[in-house]
Amino acid sequence: MTTLHVTPLGDQVDHDTSTAEADCVCGPETRPALQAGGSVGWLLVHHSLDGREHASP
Ligand SMILES: [Zn+2]
Repeated sequence: MTTLHVTPLGDQVDHDTSTAEADCVCGPETRPALQAGGSVGWLLVHHSLDGREHASP
């Protein structure tokens, strides 16, 4: 089983990407990810803690 971490670039906090668990402070979202060859891995999508998702465009 493969786990890939997706972290925001230049975020204010250090994200914990050392484990396959979603135990980072940002509460990452776990998504199944189909990989080449048909095996299923996991995508851990980290959230930025600087509020960029909530910023107006
Ligand atoms: Zn994180």
